[in-house]
Amino acid sequence: MQDTKKIAATLKEYFGYDTFRPLQEKIVTSVLNGHDNLVIMPTGGGKSICYQLPALLLEGITLVISPLIALMKDQVDGLNANGIPASFFNSSQTVEEQQELFGQLAEGAIKILYLAPESLSLFEGALSTLSISLIAIDEAHCISSWGHDFRPAYTRLGYLKERFPSTPMIALTATADKATRKDICDQLRIPEATVHLASFDRENLSLEVRAGTKRIEQIIRFLNQHPEESGIIYCLSRKTTEAIADRLTSTGFSVAAYHAGLAHDQRSKIQEQFINDTIQIVCATIAFGMGIDKSNVRWVIHYNLPKNIESYYQEIGRAGRDGLPSTTLLFHSYSDVIQLQKFADQSGNKEVQLAKLERMKQYADALSCRRKILLSYFGEIIEEDCGNCDVCKNPPQFIDGTIIAQKALSTIYRVKEQEPIGTIIDIMRGAQNASVYDKNYQQLKTYGIARDISWKDWQQYLIQLINQGYIEIAFDQHNKLRLTARSRKVLFEKETVLLAHLQELEKAKEKLPVT
Ligand code: ADP
Ligand code: ZN
Repeated sequence: MQDTKKIAATLKEYFGYDTFRPLQEKIVTSVLNGHDNLVIMPTGGGKSICYQLPALLLEGITLVISPLIALMKDQVDGLNANGIPASFFNSSQTVEEQQELFGQLAEGAIKILYLAPESLSLFEGALSTLSISLIAIDEAHCISSWGHDFRPAYTRLGYLKERFPSTPMIALTATADKATRKDICDQLRIPEATVHLASFDRENLSLEVRAGTKRIEQIIRFLNQHPEESGIIYCLSRKTTEAIADRLTSTGFSVAAYHAGLAHDQRSKIQEQFINDTIQIVCATIAFGMGIDKSNVRWVIHYNLPKNIESYYQEIGRAGRDGLPSTTLLFHSYSDVIQLQKFADQSGNKEVQLAKLERMKQYADALSCRRKILLSYFGEIIEEDCGNCDVCKNPPQFIDGTIIAQKALSTIYRVKEQEPIGTIIDIMRGAQNASVYDKNYQQLKTYGIARDISWKDWQQYLIQLINQGYIEIAFDQHNKLRLTARSRKVLFEKETVLLAHLQELEKAKEKLPVT
């Protein structure tokens, strides 16, 4: 076992830090004591030290499995600059480069070796000749199809533990809910791993959700309020990234679109320009950002709703890694929800994906402190409201929504739970269109009972009712609205329903601080 003095001295000597970040020392010690560890720490929390420091203190080589081939060179250059002998092995190297590497490994001149999971089989022969003292699995959530970034090549990593049963393993990720954590440990065959869960609270990130109407106009206004600041706009499709980038470029902003459809070179170039502040804004799909080490991203906008809270939290986590105040803004639109439901429906893991999307939607529709909701999703409870989210800054006024709810629920009841949200609103507002007339809904008792509430407001009220469990959406049945046990209490037992006052909410949003 290594003493704490030596550990602290190594931290100072090679990394230049006087103190550890929360959990780092505990993790380093556990690794040095030969235990298996699972580290869940937000982006920017300081995961690298957790294996790089032990690598220096252990005999032999530390193997780091990382999916980010594009970044390996930078990571290795960074370590070399600190006097740490590191290298990498991946498919981008020439045979000569690989030969040279094998020579260095044989001489014991390398302490840390980065390896892409896809390259593991090519490296097989070398493995048996090396003395491996630690195996680190970076971005470990990629092994789990429960997580949000599943990579098939990761599933092969399970055999490492069998091959090196007495070599400690450390798995690291910025994102894993409970089910994913267990899946990671199972698949890596480290069921006894010590789990280190760092606080996910990022107090410097302000949280805001806005209705996704006139998004481009809202974004341009936002950018004018944040001149010169670096930021990322996440979109669901490649096409959207390009459309927004074009639109913003023509408005005079410095923008690039980034997605997996671009050539590799072009992607690296955009990353570099963004990191060097040559480009101010990147409009990107989720392909952008994993592993991007840029500390001064001042804002992250989600043009579309992310498919789950893990993705959302990881993406907003790319803002403010330097700890300075940073802004996040999520646009919420019902059409995104429908689109994501379709994707989830087609995915192999349909039920899980739909349930996760539902949580995401509830977050976006929340009428209580958003940070509390986010952190509780990761199993962390904070006592006080955060004061740095839109709900905390402008708490909604509640109104007695019982009558509104009764109108909607009895309409759903009268159409025998066979219609989606749009038709229900049409009926209540007395619309004269095919979706009403084709089925003679103009004869219903609730036809035209709520013309005084606008279409948009009805939509918002219905979403609130859905979130509060008064209505269900049958995803598998063309999104027909269904009644629930709770809605029957409103219809038949006169339960009181509270709804957020929409005019109040709108007013409050207009008043949000302009900085
Ligand atoms: P992660 O991999 O969790 O996203 P990194 O390991 O890249 O985080 O670390 C994030 C940033 O924090 C880096 O700039 C790193 O140099 C810095 N850092 C890590 N540990 C410490 C520490 N103990 N003291 C000060 N800075 C640290
Ligand atoms: Zn809050």
